[in-house]
Amino acid sequence: MTHITRRNILRTAGAVSAGALLAPSMLGAPLFVPERKTQRVVLIAMAGGVRTRETFGMPDNVPNLVAMAKEGVLYPKLRTSNLGHFGATMSIFTGLAEARGIRENARGPDPTIFEYLRKDLGLDKGDVWVTTSGGAQQVNYSYGLHPEYGPQYGANILDGDGIFNREFEELLERWGKPKAADPEEQKILERLRRGMGKGDAVKDAEQQARVEEYILNELTRGTSDIRGAAAGDRKALRLARNLMSIFKPKMLGVVLQNADIAHSSYNGYVEVVRQNDAAIGELMAAIREDEELATTTAVFVCPEFGRDADLNARRGLDHGDGSDDLRTVGCAAWGPDFKQGATVTADHKTIDLTTTICELMGAKAKLAKGGRLSGLYS
Ligand SMILES: [Zn+2]
Repeated sequence: MTHITRRNILRTAGAVSAGALLAPSMLGAPLFVPERKTQRVVLIAMAGGVRTRETFGMPDNVPNLVAMAKEGVLYPKLRTSNLGHFGATMSIFTGLAEARGIRENARGPDPTIFEYLRKDLGLDKGDVWVTTSGGAQQVNYSYGLHPEYGPQYGANILDGDGIFNREFEELLERWGKPKAADPEEQKILERLRRGMGKGDAVKDAEQQARVEEYILNELTRGTSDIRGAAAGDRKALRLARNLMSIFKPKMLGVVLQNADIAHSSYNGYVEVVRQNDAAIGELMAAIREDEELATTTAVFVCPEFGRDADLNARRGLDHGDGSDDLRTVGCAAWGPDFKQGATVTADHKTIDLTTTICELMGAKAKLAKGGRLSGLYS
């Protein structure tokens, strides 16, 4: 009887693989995709090097992140791969461990999450944005140079000072000067204009009107008045909040970096962590208070890597000791399709975010090497 049992098992196994071969998933369509509520994603790269010790390890520093995790899923130990800020942050957006120098300032060869989503889902440029803390390097997160993707699928990008990317120049040229009564506002506008180069314009009139509204909002909500600790990061998050409220984009990346003050000051670093949490709280409040956003938006927050286990000679924290504090980070995922209050300690990486988010939105990160975050869906 043994051989029959064995044959049965083999037959069953054969039927399973034959079925698998014929399953729609092998023909390009998923076997079964549950109806998902998520229609838009905010991905915050809490970059600059942030240890889990000062976030989920000290809940008082990050009440908003803790609240997000309680209503969502916490991944307390995602592994990071590259230890330079630029490459490690790029990895979050490409799903590939990027080997890039700290001072390298060039677009990568690999497609970003923004390009995957725009190409696969046919998204308009107005649906995909990145706001950054500032600095020339960060412009490179909006798209890569892969021949099948690239600039035609890139994201709109804004930096912490509200400097628009060059695609907006023509738009503002046509729009003309707003009636800014306040000379301070006028000065900001002049700076916006100077910050822009040449490029394509946004053609759609409705979108133009929303951009106009956005700009006015941006000017009047006092982003330019944000000063002090984490000013660049807080501006990037404020811009993100305004963008969410006005454009309700399908994909919004946010890139922070001010935590890197840790090299010279532990206390300064903790203050940045606290300020960033508060600004993330403002963004979350805007999402929660908007009926449409509250029920359709997923938010992910993840540092690019941590920091050393021990203080340096300046009583700061560098990043280079290879410790677990450096090589693993805490990531929170919050959204209408996710579990609530779950903690997942399974083996995962920061590069899993791109694959996971693309799948969540119905796109495929074709060239990404990350896996899927397990234990995410309710
Ligand atoms: Zn650094």
